[in-house]
Amino acid sequence: MFISYEEFAARADIVRAQIAAACKQSGRDPATVELLAVTKTHPVTAADYAARYGLRAVGENRVQEALEKRPTCAAPTLSWELIGHLQSNKSKLAVQYFDRVQSVDSEKLLNHLDRAAAELGKVLPVLLQINAGNDPAKFGADLAAAPRLVELALAKKNLRIDGLMTIAPLGATPTEATAHAERTFANLRSLRDDLAARLGVPFRELSMGMSGDLVPAIAAGSTMVRVGSALYGLR
Ligand SMILES: *Cc1c(COP(=O)(O)O)cnc(C)c1O
Repeated sequence: MFISYEEFAARADIVRAQIAAACKQSGRDPATVELLAVTKTHPVTAADYAARYGLRAVGENRVQEALEKRPTCAAPTLSWELIGHLQSNKSKLAVQYFDRVQSVDSEKLLNHLDRAAAELGKVLPVLLQINAGNDPAKFGADLAAAPRLVELALAKKNLRIDGLMTIAPLGATPTEATAHAERTFANLRSLRDDLAARLGVPFRELSMGMSGDLVPAIAAGSTMVRVGSALYGLR
């Protein structure tokens, strides 16, 4: 059985308190850090709960799953964001079913999404996913390749580049995980700051931090934490 709304709300209150505490620690306004509820693998009820709690958006990692769940969601104004790897042949479906794609990591995908958005008469908001922790197990453009990808993205008429996204490498121990997270998030932050200064575009969104590493992410400047297990339980 899936958790009750009351349990979800109690968990969300705890996550919001963690976000508020992390913001206080780094002198930030909690209103500058959005909580994205990651509903992957859970029933559509998970998305309904997020909307009822007042969250703006949910994150899904597979196109197929979102296209089954979204039409049955009771909250018409909820936004859906793709946070998982996207194959370019699914670009059109992604543009149809998602309000934003956070996992854009190649020139090929930029081309396909731009074309699909043009065909559907849309401007698609995107984030560029950067492998800021240099993790061979993760998707995302290499740090060295990121500036060129960002410049290519800016030239796409049917894409709007909101910012950057990353996932920190796993660690063998909690200490190692925290060290990886701090390094990864600092890398993404400085990449964004360099690009913003050089290109004169704010790239406001820094999507970084999950259930286990949202505190270091907020310290490094995250504007969106993507939280699944702390809200819905283990998958
Ligand atoms: C699953 C997932 C999350 C949420 O992870 P939790 O540890 O459950 O909070 C965040 N980001 C991405 C890209 C994910 O795939």
